[in-house]
Amino acid sequence: MQCDKCGDEAVMSAAYSGQHLCADHFTRSVESRVRRRIRADALLSDDATPAAPETWLVGLSGGKDSAVLTQVLHDTFAADPRVELVAVTIHEGIDGYRDASLEASVELTEILDVEHEVASYADEYGIEMDAVADEDPLDMAPCAYCGVFRRDALSQYAEAFGADKLLTGHNLDDEAQTAMMNLLSGDVRQIAKQFDASLGSFEDRDLADAPFVPRAKPLRDVPEKEVALYAHLRNLPTHVAECPHASEAYRGEIRDHLHALEAEHPGTRHSIMAGYEDLARLAAEAYRDGADAPRGTCDRCGAPTGGEVCRKCDLLGELGGEVSGDA
Ligand SMILES: [Zn+2]
Ligand SMILES: [Zn+2]
Repeated sequence: MQCDKCGDEAVMSAAYSGQHLCADHFTRSVESRVRRRIRADALLSDDATPAAPETWLVGLSGGKDSAVLTQVLHDTFAADPRVELVAVTIHEGIDGYRDASLEASVELTEILDVEHEVASYADEYGIEMDAVADEDPLDMAPCAYCGVFRRDALSQYAEAFGADKLLTGHNLDDEAQTAMMNLLSGDVRQIAKQFDASLGSFEDRDLADAPFVPRAKPLRDVPEKEVALYAHLRNLPTHVAECPHASEAYRGEIRDHLHALEAEHPGTRHSIMAGYEDLARLAAEAYRDGADAPRGTCDRCGAPTGGEVCRKCDLLGELGGEVSGDA
């Protein structure tokens, strides 16, 4: 099999595009998709100048997705005085697992000379995921707690750091799974919220009184397999292991269905995301025009919530952990 562009030996073929690419043309194609997404999302605001650069905080877990994101952002913006990149790793308190991936994060940021910060559930909430997984007071999957805490810890950290944007390494497969889960849940208001929080172009989002540092996912056009191949071809330091507590049963089911659909109908993930983003934008606009309920804040930590207490504080209450937060 030969590269469509140069005739060298191809390292990948993509059924959804019909393309065969060599290592060189493949890595360039990943980079150009990420850069195209950054432009399409208007991620770099016109207000950013060398005198007043934007700070982009990158959530770096040590896994392949966030390593690839950090590398491509560095290649694109290291010489651009309008952007300052800072990486942050959240230590969940998972013995062995997170320590190894923290090492990979340290190695990558040292090679790239990117500032690297570490925050932990222990510092933020006085809890560790190993203990949470053992205790499990609500009898739910550990990932259900961890997802809430990670999202909150990243947000709190970005806020305290004074970051302008928070970037995460979600790939096309992650995003198509989340889109399907949200569609199947039937909660259109949640879909609308996701648009302003993390999905749409910065030109289309309503950030006027956003109570959070806005998020972006510049890798979301790149399939998981291609992210892994890119990390391998560029020899990025990553820690590839499944979390010992991994248990997201429902997401796993959706992932299997999407794999089956993609195999029979290449391009399904891309079309799900194209439709989902349009739908999310239309829903966000509709709710903005008056149908949305006023957004409240958590009585305990000040985070935005529809109820009196946010989900994180609710879970911390169940766990008997201390509640932190400076809002
Ligand atoms: Zn080639
Ligand atoms: Zn709260």
